[in-house]
Amino acid sequence: MRFQTAEPFRIKMVEHVKKTTKEDRINWLKEANYNVFKVKAENVYIDCLTDSGTTAMSKNQWAALMMGDESYASCDSFFKLEKSVHDVFDIPYVQPVHQGRAADYLLAKLYTKPGKIAIGNMHFDTFRGNAEVLGALVEDLVKDEGKNASSPASPFKGNIDLNKCERIIKEKGLDSISVIILTVTCNNNGGQPVSMQNIKDTAEFAKKYNIPFVMDIARVAENAYFIKTREEAYKDRSIESIIRESVSYCETAVMSAKKDGLVNIGGLFLTRNKDVFTMANQLAIVHEGFLTYGGLAGRDLEALAVGLREVCDFDYLDYRIKQVEYLGNQLKLRGVPIIEPTGGHGVYVDAKRFFDHIPQHEFPAQRLVVALYEEAGIRAVELGACAFGSKDPITGKDVWPELETMRIAISRRVYTNDHMDCIANALGYIYENRKSYKGLKLVYQGPIVSLRHFTAGFELI
Ligand SMILES: *Cc1c(COP(=O)(O)O)cnc(C)c1O
Repeated sequence: MRFQTAEPFRIKMVEHVKKTTKEDRINWLKEANYNVFKVKAENVYIDCLTDSGTTAMSKNQWAALMMGDESYASCDSFFKLEKSVHDVFDIPYVQPVHQGRAADYLLAKLYTKPGKIAIGNMHFDTFRGNAEVLGALVEDLVKDEGKNASSPASPFKGNIDLNKCERIIKEKGLDSISVIILTVTCNNNGGQPVSMQNIKDTAEFAKKYNIPFVMDIARVAENAYFIKTREEAYKDRSIESIIRESVSYCETAVMSAKKDGLVNIGGLFLTRNKDVFTMANQLAIVHEGFLTYGGLAGRDLEALAVGLREVCDFDYLDYRIKQVEYLGNQLKLRGVPIIEPTGGHGVYVDAKRFFDHIPQHEFPAQRLVVALYEEAGIRAVELGACAFGSKDPITGKDVWPELETMRIAISRRVYTNDHMDCIANALGYIYENRKSYKGLKLVYQGPIVSLRHFTAGFELI
């Protein structure tokens, strides 16, 4: 395998992308109010907005699509999916949902309570939004190094800090905590992994206090790769066995299958608790569809049944994680400050250091997103003042997040390292000229603050 260092696949079908002029892109940005969510995808050259649902499916998945049943109840496609879930995760009760956020809704509805706190390493926006709508409170208790984009490289920056959990229980009382949620890998701070030790310790902690323990396993296979390559005790274990052990400690797991499910749509709500499953079924009937399709077509269930098995392939994961690392290294060579080490699904540029002359209330990370699209037609996403900013519920004042990053999410099996070079060259150029950029002014936001980045509007200062 010494010389076999390229992508472990051949490209069977291609999707053309359009090259565009800077002049056009300046106009499109203006029309989109400097929010790249509103830029037409056809006008994007390399799309790194998200790794969600953007996977290129394999020939086995495309073949499986044709086997999809279109019957309403108890279709064969569901039982294939259920079998994959049993084989890969060893969790008995399976409720498919149309995508991750629907599983987040079930989770928020079944495990949180108004006024009580859901603690976690870092909750993902769609869980946070669902919890907020239901009147629940949330706390991110990741280790300090995971909240600081310039902290030195360390292997498991997604780990939850159990001392902080202990403290919050002491301060607010055990009664005020509803659930503990570990998100693996931790999306919001760089796709940073959580160690098996931390998963085990969290499970023990939860057991000691009798708090339900749930995992968000959207990227559990990428997390398993990091455990295998960074946690000594697991270096000889297979990806399959690491995934299985990871989820063996939790009562319930939610998954956006658009990530490590290697599909374009779908989600899972998985549990070992029969009562929780019964309630999840009821809610799914109201919100998603019948128990055995959960808002998905038979073909989607089939593609996911295959994707869950494919994602366990070590060679695939090795290519995937190393491509992200390659981009990180290219950026570092050009002086661009990033979160280190690179995580599972993208490179996170530290906009606080990149644009150190733009204050956080002028949205430096969003400014960088705009600059990258303007210069190169490359679309990334802001995870900073706009996405994570909030208002103090008592004073109404703006509260700014610790992390101010631009995420360059890498789609699975879609781009080559030549694309990575384009991204690095464009960002290197912007970095050289960084002092010529000024910030942005937020001129529109929707009523739910935690979701404002999706529809926000800006003006150039
Ligand atoms: C993407 C994501 C979700 C939401 O999933 P969708 O399929 O986009 O609705 C939830 N949790 C995490 C960690 C995610 O990355």
